[in-house]
Amino acid sequence: MSGVALEFEGLGKRFGDFAAVHPLNLSVAPGELLVLLGPSGCGKTTTLRMTAGLEFPSEGRILFDGKDVTRKPPGERDVAFVFQLYALYPHMTVGENVAFPLRTQGRSAVEASRAASAMLERLGLGMLAGSKPRQLSGADQQRAALARALVRKPRAFLLDEPLNTLDSAQREFLREQIRELHKEMEATTLFVTHDQAEALALGDRIAVMGEGKILQCGPPREVYENPNSLFVANFLGTPGMNFLFASRSGEAVRVQGADWMVRVSDLPDSKAGLGEAWTNKDGLYLGIRPEHVLLTGEGAPCQVEHTEMLGAYSLVDLRAGKVRLKARVPGGRRYREGDTVGVSFHPSGCRWFDAVEGNALPWHTQEVKCTPSR
Ligand code: ATP
Repeated sequence: MSGVALEFEGLGKRFGDFAAVHPLNLSVAPGELLVLLGPSGCGKTTTLRMTAGLEFPSEGRILFDGKDVTRKPPGERDVAFVFQLYALYPHMTVGENVAFPLRTQGRSAVEASRAASAMLERLGLGMLAGSKPRQLSGADQQRAALARALVRKPRAFLLDEPLNTLDSAQREFLREQIRELHKEMEATTLFVTHDQAEALALGDRIAVMGEGKILQCGPPREVYENPNSLFVANFLGTPGMNFLFASRSGEAVRVQGADWMVRVSDLPDSKAGLGEAWTNKDGLYLGIRPEHVLLTGEGAPCQVEHTEMLGAYSLVDLRAGKVRLKARVPGGRRYREGDTVGVSFHPSGCRWFDAVEGNALPWHTQEVKCTPSR
C-alpha cells in the first residue's frame, strides 16, 4: 500500500492571541519523507499534532488523498506517530508492545508476534523482546516505541524528534534503518527535528520553519546551496554560512572592516531591476560557506586565530581587520595560530543577501577576486 498524498491548505493554529503556526500551504507526495526543520518553538510539533488529529487547527484544512480529515480523530486517519517521549505499556513485554498494534488490527497472535520479532531484530532489540519496558534504558525504550509504530505499516508516519534521546552511534544506526524502512514501506513521512544534519541526511525535502512559518521548502541540496534568506543560510551547515557585510564601491564590493575589495564579474545593472539592493545604503551581505573559503596562499591576507581538528576536516578561524570567518580544510593540513594565509572565495559558493530583510538576491557570481584594498 502506498502512502497518502498529504496537503495543508492555509493550515494555522493560534493559542489565544499567539499564532503558533501561521496559515501555511504544503503538499507532501505519496511516499515522500519531508522533514520539518527549525529551532525550538517555531511550530513544528504543533503542525505534526494537527496532522495526527491530536490538535485541531484554528484555520485551514488537512487533506489525505484529497479528502478533508481536518476534524477527524486520530483513529480515522491511518497514521502512526512517535513523539519525543513515547510511553510503552508497562505491563506488557517489549515484544507484546510491538505486536499490540497488529493484534488490534485483527492479526493472529502468531502472525503479530512473528512480525514484532522481525522488527525488533531489525532495530537491534531482538534480545530484549521478553523484557519489560522498565528494564530497558531510555534509549532502548525509544527504539521499542519506534518499532511499535513501524510494525503497523500505516500510510503515514509522523515522527517528532524520535532520535533525540539516543547517543550518536545509535542515532546514526536508526537513521539508516528509518531511511531503509521508509523506502520499503513507501509511507508518507513527516519527520520533525531541530538537527539540521539529521534533516539533510534523511529528507527527500526539507521545510525550514521559523516563527510559525515555512521559510523555504526544497530538496536538501537545493536548500543548503541556495538558501533564500540569512536565517536559512545560517541554520543549515556545521557551522552555518559566513556573512561579510559589504557595500558597493564603484564597480566592486567593499567588504566592510576587512579592507578588502571583492570584484564580481557580473555586477548587477540597476536597469535589471536589482538596482535598489545594489545602491541600498544599508548595504548587503556576501554569504560564503566555510568549504568555499579557500586558503590558497593568494588573495586577501588573513590571520589564523584557531584551528579546530574534527577528524577528516578542520575548521580554521580567520581574522582580517574586524572580519572573522571560518574555513573548512582537509584534516591533514596544519595552520598555526598567528600564521598569515591568503584567502579567496570559490565564486560558485558566493551568495548575496540584502541587509534589511535578509532575503537572498538572485545574483550569480562568476569571478571573485579578494585583494587587500591597500
Ligand atoms: P520544540 O522543538 O521546542 O518542541 P516546536 O518547533 O515543536 O518546538 P511547538 O511545540 O509547535 O514548537 O510550539 C510552537 C509555539 O506554540 C511555542 O511558542 C509554544 O510555546 C506554543 N504552544 C505550543 N502548544 C501550546 C499550548 N497548548 N498552549 C499555548 N501555547 C502553546
